[in-house]
Amino acid sequence: MYEKELEKLLTEKGADMVGFSYLGDSVSPDYPQYKYAVTILRRLSKAVLDTIDGAPTMAYFQHYRATNARLDSITLDGISFIEDMGYLALPVAASQSTPDKKEEYRGIFPHKTGAVLSGLGYIGKNGLLLTEKFGSAVRMATILTDMPLEPQRPMLECLCGDCMICKNACPAGAITGEIYVPGAPRNTIFDAKKCSEHMKTYKNIGRGAVCGLCMAACPKNKRM
Ligand code: SF4
Ligand code: SF4
Repeated sequence: MYEKELEKLLTEKGADMVGFSYLGDSVSPDYPQYKYAVTILRRLSKAVLDTIDGAPTMAYFQHYRATNARLDSITLDGISFIEDMGYLALPVAASQSTPDKKEEYRGIFPHKTGAVLSGLGYIGKNGLLLTEKFGSAVRMATILTDMPLEPQRPMLECLCGDCMICKNACPAGAITGEIYVPGAPRNTIFDAKKCSEHMKTYKNIGRGAVCGLCMAACPKNKRM
């Protein structure tokens, strides 16, 4: 009932796309009371991605951080709106890190889950969200909430086809090149440990927190 107002607010604050989803079986096990998600998405600059050539750059790292900070700021406005309407709203930061070693390389809720369930895009072979409008050059934040939201149509089918560009671009061998099948474990397409270990080799760029080669290589970004 508040979707239009919320989307207008978040867009005015700087979101490029906004999605609403009912989480069903994908609800966070830590927060089962929050059955709905608002996904807030911002595109990354093509000019910045063009600086990535065989290795990440400071321009990319700084833009990545600035985009995350902007997403977290937009999220705050969304939380205030939802709370003013009498509901609870839990922010999931754009960049999640968890000290829980049982679930290494995972946050409290995957932004991609809400994004796919709300039809903003599908999971590409690079393990990233792929959107029609911006390709995989996007970052996201999420608000988990008990505010009932009219869900949008999920986009479950991966449209990567025979493309293997991101697999071939990955120096860590972290991308299998398989098409993602909804419900399958993440490691059928992507090895998060290999990816993370490889990022650490770029110690001169944000102390090894980014890579981005597979994202920058995706030809679907060129539609921007
Ligand atoms: S971010 Fe880098 S290491 Fe990780 S999957 Fe993409 S190309 Fe490979
Ligand atoms: S580079 Fe090709 S296979 Fe990889 S995500 Fe983009 S379209 Fe899909």
